Amino acid sequence: MRQTTAIKVLSPRGEGIAAHMEEILALTGEDPQREGLKRTPERWEKAMRFLTSGYQTRLEDIVNGALFAVKFDEMVVVRDIEFYSMCEHHLLPFHGRMHVAYLPTTKVIGLSKIPRIVNMFARRFQVQERLTQEVAEAVSECVTPRGVAVMCEASHFCMMMRGVEKQGSTTVTSAMLGTFRENKATRDEFLSMVSRGAR
Ligand code: ZN
Repeated sequence: MRQTTAIKVLSPRGEGIAAHMEEILALTGEDPQREGLKRTPERWEKAMRFLTSGYQTRLEDIVNGALFAVKFDEMVVVRDIEFYSMCEHHLLPFHGRMHVAYLPTTKVIGLSKIPRIVNMFARRFQVQERLTQEVAEAVSECVTPRGVAVMCEASHFCMMMRGVEKQGSTTVTSAMLGTFRENKATRDEFLSMVSRGAR
């Protein structure tokens, strides 16, 4: 309560994200009222609301009926899905690409829906491991396939700009469900499909 009151005094703009950012700017030693920074708290709030919009997105709304009954039981792979997320430990960006595959049973999902599912989970505060797992589970929930595989390669700004300051390294995570987990041949097929031409 006391903190909220203090921020109200500091910022005439209200109690939203922007008001807190104005205070943070002042705490860094900056003058939040100078020309270049004056509207930064609002801009930052707007950006932050977009970057965390995944919390307001529901899987049902994304899929929205785009499930199609088919007789197709070969692997479906969507490769090189670019994504941008924020690491929950430092609130700094991490970005990279994801490869998503599944083995359908009776239905497939509209192909554009898979990148939308990636965005839904990427636009939250994340760790790469959980992001990878959540995408796999969501695809599994939608199409009830024989299996789902997700591979994620990303660069983390918290490793590049601070900490160990390593620019060239990427972190690779994967999540294998169903057949991809149980069957080495299926898993290898996926890995060869996503590694070929991924660079
Ligand atoms: Zn981090």
